[in-house]
Amino acid sequence: MNLDLDADTIAFRDEVRDWLAAHVRRLPSVDTAEGFARHREWERELADARLSVVSWPARYGGRDRSLLDWLVFEEEYHAAGAPVRVGQNGLFLLAPTLFAHGTDEQRDRLLPRMARADDVWAQAWSEPEAGSDLAAIRAAATRTDGGWLLSGQKTWSSRAAFADRAFGLFRTDAAAGRHRGLTYLMFDLRADGVTVRPIRQLGGETGFAEIFLSEVFVPDADVIGTVGDGWRVAMSTASHERGLSLRSPGRFLATARRLVDLWRESEDPALRDRVVDAWIGAQAYRLHTFGTVSRLAEGGTVGPEASLGKVYWSELDLAMHETALDLLGTRAEVEGDWLDGYLFALAGPIYAGANEIQRTVIAERVLGLPREAR
Ligand SMILES: Cc1cc2nc3c(=O)[nH]c(=O)nc-3n(C[C@H](O)[C@H](O)[C@H](O)COP(=O)(O)OP(=O)(O)OC[C@H]3O[C@@H](n4cnc5c(N)ncnc54)[C@H](O)[C@@H]3O)c2cc1C
Repeated sequence: MNLDLDADTIAFRDEVRDWLAAHVRRLPSVDTAEGFARHREWERELADARLSVVSWPARYGGRDRSLLDWLVFEEEYHAAGAPVRVGQNGLFLLAPTLFAHGTDEQRDRLLPRMARADDVWAQAWSEPEAGSDLAAIRAAATRTDGGWLLSGQKTWSSRAAFADRAFGLFRTDAAAGRHRGLTYLMFDLRADGVTVRPIRQLGGETGFAEIFLSEVFVPDADVIGTVGDGWRVAMSTASHERGLSLRSPGRFLATARRLVDLWRESEDPALRDRVVDAWIGAQAYRLHTFGTVSRLAEGGTVGPEASLGKVYWSELDLAMHETALDLLGTRAEVEGDWLDGYLFALAGPIYAGANEIQRTVIAERVLGLPREAR
């Protein structure tokens, strides 16, 4: 494989780099009402520069660039220390799902608004009794004239405290098998019958919310895929989330570079190998991801092997932050960025599907080992 970028991609990279150098600024935390609004404005600036969704078709606000160019964009984005993407649930989870399973009408209606953060989306999958065992979902959608009525409870929904809309799985057939009776639906977080209750995270801010639904109307036009086929649609979202879109290598390359810079301040010989391991780990994830996008460009899909990536990037992120805290020693408490990053890295082995579950997927579906007794 030739890993050199061609002239067109280099020109694109330089444009992105220059634009970011001129525009990036520090914003208040996205998990506060003010920070959320400021991040939404930032997304609109990105969209005006046609940089918010570079790999999407132009008619939805993108530039028709390749996934490889998207990875290049991501590397520049993270290297510049640009703001968290407030629209990430929509951009990186719902959009790939709509590209694969949505209708033209849904894509035309939803994607341009998503690209400009006019709609910021939350993921409403988890429930109090359905996390790792996602097929245990109880929130139900019952048939009504022209659509569905949603009732039940969702939880751990990132950004839902301030977001506009949500996508999730609902039980539409209680009599069908656990995986068969589920349907993928979208709903408005401000609709009648929706109550959103913020949850404070370890860092003190409202990064999560519980969502209570009581007979919330959803029109048929907001079903993704076919009724009863929600599990298959959800697994396609999850593959993107774990294996490619949610955590691209740019994020870890930037962290590894910051870690090397931090090490240079003390050149602590005892921690040198861990810093080198982190740097190598980030480079390896980059190369692995080039392999994934090449496979996709040739018509392949991101399948269960996405779980390998998820375990890898979440453990790498944690190791890098632990090394940084060890380098900083007691300074870690006053130099808050690494500490904040560490607190968030702790969640990496849990969100997007706990790593224990990913290891079962790897064993059974990638390696073909005998299934776990259930
Ligand atoms: C920062 C963060 C953001 C999140 N954002 C969202 C979001 O936006 N939307 C959303 O829907 N959800 C979100 N989640 C929820 C997340 O998907 C769940 O926390 C995760 O799937 C685990 O489910 P659970 O919390 O119910 O834990 P449980 O399923 O109760 O698991 C508890 C522990 O038991 C282990 N375990 C469970 N079953 C098995 C098994 N069969 N084999 C081995 N070990 C097992 C798990 O690995 C885990 O360590 C988020 C979570 C975090 C931490």
